[in-house]
Parts: sequence; C-alpha cells; structure tokens
Amino acid sequence: MISVEQAVEIVLGNLPARGTERVSIQSVQGRVLAADLTANCDVPPFNRSAMDGYAVCAADTVGAPVSLEIAGESRAGGGGAATLRPGRAVSVMTGAPVPADADAVQVIEQTKRSDDGCRVTVLKPVHTGENIVPRGSEAASGEIVLEAGRLAGPSELAVLATFGYESVMVWRRPSVALLTTGDELVEVHEEPHFGQIRNSNAHSLRGQLRLMGIEADYLGIARDDKQNLRDRMAQASARDVTILTGGVSMGEYDFVKEVLHEVGFKILFAGVAMRPGKPTVFARRGDRLAFGLPGNPVSTFIAFENFVRPALGRLCGIARPELPRIHGALTRDMKQSPGRTAYLPAQVRMAQVGWEIEPLRWRGSADIIGFARANAAVIFPADRDSMKGGETAEALLLPDYFQRSQAR
Ligand code: AMP
Ligand code: MG
Repeated sequence: MISVEQAVEIVLGNLPARGTERVSIQSVQGRVLAADLTANCDVPPFNRSAMDGYAVCAADTVGAPVSLEIAGESRAGGGGAATLRPGRAVSVMTGAPVPADADAVQVIEQTKRSDDGCRVTVLKPVHTGENIVPRGSEAASGEIVLEAGRLAGPSELAVLATFGYESVMVWRRPSVALLTTGDELVEVHEEPHFGQIRNSNAHSLRGQLRLMGIEADYLGIARDDKQNLRDRMAQASARDVTILTGGVSMGEYDFVKEVLHEVGFKILFAGVAMRPGKPTVFARRGDRLAFGLPGNPVSTFIAFENFVRPALGRLCGIARPELPRIHGALTRDMKQSPGRTAYLPAQVRMAQVGWEIEPLRWRGSADIIGFARANAAVIFPADRDSMKGGETAEALLLPDYFQRSQAR
C-alpha cells in the first residue's frame, strides 16, 4: 500500500491547469492574486506631512528657539500647498502636502504660536527631512506593490484601493460537487429508523470546504445502488472536483470505485497506509478529479485534510495549503499496531518551553464526538508501535485551529 506522502504526490501530479477570473475588490478577500500589480502613481503622491505642526526650512531652526512668520496653512485635502520662503513657516496638518521649499516639519508640541496668530516660535531645531514622507517613497510609479501569489487580506484590499484597482485577476476557485453514499443515511431534519443514522459527513465536508472559501454543490445521498450512483455522478460531471463519501471499502454494496471506473474515471490510487482513512480513492477523468473518502466520519475528515485540501488549495493558487505542522512534547505514552501512519485527535498548546501535545481519548474512526474535542491531529509514524510521554512528536493544526484557540 502506498504511503500518505506517495498518495499526496500522485494527487499533486494530476492537477489540471488552473484558471483565472476577475473579481471585484468587494469579494477578493481570501483569494490569491494571479498577476503582479504595479503602482500606477507615486505614493505618497506629494511630499506628505507625517505630523501636525509647521513646515519650515530646517536651516532656520538651527538657533532655536526662533520666531518665524506664519505664511499660510496646508491642510489635508487642501489644494496646492503654499510656498515657503526662508524665515517663514506654514502651518501643516497630518496628511497634508508640505509646501515646496520647506524641508522639515516641526511638530506642534515643539512650537508656540503668538497670541495674534501671525508668528510661531519653533522651540527646538529640526533636521532636514524630519516628519516629511517624500513623494514616491512608499511606492514609486511602476513598482510592483502586490506580487502574484499573494493572498488578499485586509491590508491588500487597502493597497488595491490606494491605486484605484476596483477589480483584479485571481485564481479561479474550483467547482466542487459533494455526494454522500449509503442506504443507512438520512438527512439532519429526518428521524432515523432502526439501522439508520444521520448524514454527518455532508456537514463536516461543507464546513471544511467553507474554511477554504469553497461553497460546494451538495448532491444529496446516493443509495448503495450502481444505477443511482451513476445518475448522481452524471449530475456532478460539470464540476471540477467531486468528493464522495462512503462506499469505498470491501463491503458487498461498496460500488464507488466500480462506478467511477464505469463513468470513465481512471483510479489513480485506492488504499493508503493511514489510519483512519485507509480505503481512500483518488481518480481522474481528463481535467476532472474525484475523491472517494471512506464513510466513517473521522476517516472522511482526515482524508479530506490529507488529500483534498492540498489539491483544492493549489487550484486556488495557494502555494502550501497543507495544514501547518508543529513539533511538541507528548504529554503521555501512546501505542499502536504499526504499519500505517495514524492521525489521532489531540489538544495542543504553546507552553513556555514550546508546544505540548496531549493525545485525546477517542473510540476510533467513527467517533466524531471524541475527535471534535481536538484542535490538532497528532501523527503516529507508521514504523513505530509506541511513543513515550515527553518524546517529541509531530501534529497537524486543524484548519480552524486559531479560531478554536480564541473560543476557549
Ligand atoms: P462506508 O465507507 O460506506 O463503508 O461506511 C463506513 C461507516 O461510515 C459506516 O458505519 C457508515 O454508516 C458510516 N457513514 C458512511 N457515510 C456516512 C455519512 N455521510 N455520515 C455519517 N456516517 C457515515
Ligand atoms: Mg456505505
């Protein structure tokens, strides 16, 4: 059986070409820029005062205190800046253009205005250039201000607005169809009869996709019946990526692999040496990808993070979409039967000496209730059968790790 790393390599080696699209500044947050953006003007566009105070010739202030005639005022948003001659000062506000010929601004706290308002005493000397942000010093026209590959966050939105970019080119998000399978499944609003359970994977997967900014097209529950599965797959055929859950194991009614093959997908792997999530399937038909995730809720969750996230993230233009890994000290011993890499629920925290990883109790790949208490998944290497408390282990931070940490 292939390792998780080998499986990820197969997934990444089979991604279709990425597409781009133009989106408005209103909806660009969380998207990845597909092209460099250059400054279309100097910033600041004029020599800007960084402080409220007086624009002066620095040389006039060498013998401070000195009294200067107030020659006018320059306010933020005001038109042309007043000019300045030696021996004079111009009152300036933060963000206002500094008059031509002035080469420094003394802050208002270091000045005293005469009672008649006509003169100002500068109490301390200022250096040339002090409190002036020169035109073009933050960005010169033509300079790259946002590189392709940059994630648009709040600061990037401000940069776009600064240059009047109302829309930009970003990597297109892949379209995703979500299909759950299983005769035993009913939806959240339904009352399960004996032998039935509620479909929880549809919800965890939509949540995981939403954390990546992707709104999936949910196609409902397919029955464990080949024709029904084929029909549902046909509904998904226009989507870039189809995510299925259930029906990939060895059971008599596990038809997903067979149907994927029948409708033209090439199975690129079926089975990965991991726990949970061993029967995970990955398939491709031209530019379309399909992931068959094992139905147990924790298997679905982990298989998504291990394989679907890297694929969708890269299609969205994210260079390293994998969950962040940390190294930390285990708080207690762990045991397993070796052979597969295990991803087990853990609570991790940053202690004074570094990260601490506390493995949580849970009851296997169906136990989403136990897993929901985790903020990380501790990785138990395939070639180990025990790990000791205090030993350094590796863990994946769950995708909403930071929000989780803030909640409690
Ligand atoms: P399967 O992968 O179809 O063999 O399913 C494995 C286990 O996961 C079975 O106990 C199923 O009942 C359960 N299961 C499958 N799909 C879901 C789902 N969408 N939500 C919750 N449990 C599921
Ligand atoms: Mg099933």
